[in-house]
Amino acid sequence: SIMGAASALISYDEKLEPEGRRDLAQTIQDEAERLNRFVQNLLDMTKLGSGALKPRVDWVDLRDVAAAAVKRTERLARHHTIRVDISHTLPLMSIDAVLIEQALFNLLDNACKYAPPGSPIKLWAMNTREHIVIEVSDQGPGIPPEDREKVFDMFYRVNLADSQTAGTGLGLAICRGIIEAHGGTIKAEPGLHGAGTCIIIHLPLPPDPGMSIQ
Ligand code: ATP
Ligand code: MG
Repeated sequence: SIMGAASALISYDEKLEPEGRRDLAQTIQDEAERLNRFVQNLLDMTKLGSGALKPRVDWVDLRDVAAAAVKRTERLARHHTIRVDISHTLPLMSIDAVLIEQALFNLLDNACKYAPPGSPIKLWAMNTREHIVIEVSDQGPGIPPEDREKVFDMFYRVNLADSQTAGTGLGLAICRGIIEAHGGTIKAEPGLHGAGTCIIIHLPLPPDPGMSIQ
């Protein structure tokens, strides 16, 4: 569709109304962004497969990482409202901000793709005594119990109807690779009152920064 829209723009330039020209340019932008996401996922997957994806950890505020992931979904989430709710007790985290942003982005991308327009999406995080917990939940169709583990396999998509929604079945496999590379876990559960999807991430608590200052 990028090539089609670009050649239509070139061939019919003079004959097109401004609106038609804008539509074609918009198609090129949307589809190029999708291609970019796809390539990013493929690269991550290749690095994960070869063991080359080593987190480069640094002290970061999850609020900044979440804000960056939400910002990247801006255009995809035109028809959704994303609410971010991060506990004020959440400590600085020792994570690879680029990778965790990619994982959160893949989860928000799914929520926007599979949950109906107008429905709310929530990114929530808090710390317990043992973990940092991050959840991305939506009020979409949910993932059937028998598929909740398989969706983390490469190229697994739940049903044929999903093939109408563009995707490759890589997003969650990459999320799991990224989270496990940080020593964490990720699983899929139903959302509030058994409806929708809630992806739950557990990450280890950061090491005490005081310990490393000698
Ligand atoms: P890609 O992320 O590579 O563009 P994808 O979205 O199909 O493609 P995954 O993100 O790995 O791949 O998701 C795997 C499958 O899990 C999806 O095809 C869909 O069937 C199901 N799924 C994932 N997230 C949700 C969700 N929030 N609600 C309902 N189904 C979901
Ligand atoms: Mg996806």
